[in-house]
Amino acid sequence: MTTRRQRIISLLEERDYSPSELVLALDLRGKGSKRLIIEELKAVQKIIRREGKVLLIKPAQCRRCGFTFRPEIKVPSRCPRCKSEWIEEPRFMIEKR
Ligand SMILES: [Zn+2]
Repeated sequence: MTTRRQRIISLLEERDYSPSELVLALDLRGKGSKRLIIEELKAVQKIIRREGKVLLIKPAQCRRCGFTFRPEIKVPSRCPRCKSEWIEEPRFMIEKR
């Protein structure tokens, strides 16, 4: 049996993904699917930590002014510096050992 979390782990061991790319890769649809991915990523981070692996986070960035957000498992909606909503999503991948 392959759970969704296991699929996410397999994907992130191959390369980095943004939350929107994971929604597409897992064929999720509809409202709230990105929020679901965020929750799954938080669970994945705990699971892989037990195996001594690390979830690498390339932080979100404002595409207007270049402001870099903190490396967190969330998708910010608005830039605190210029108030733009044109945000490059964070990217996640599992560190290769
Ligand atoms: Zn900005």
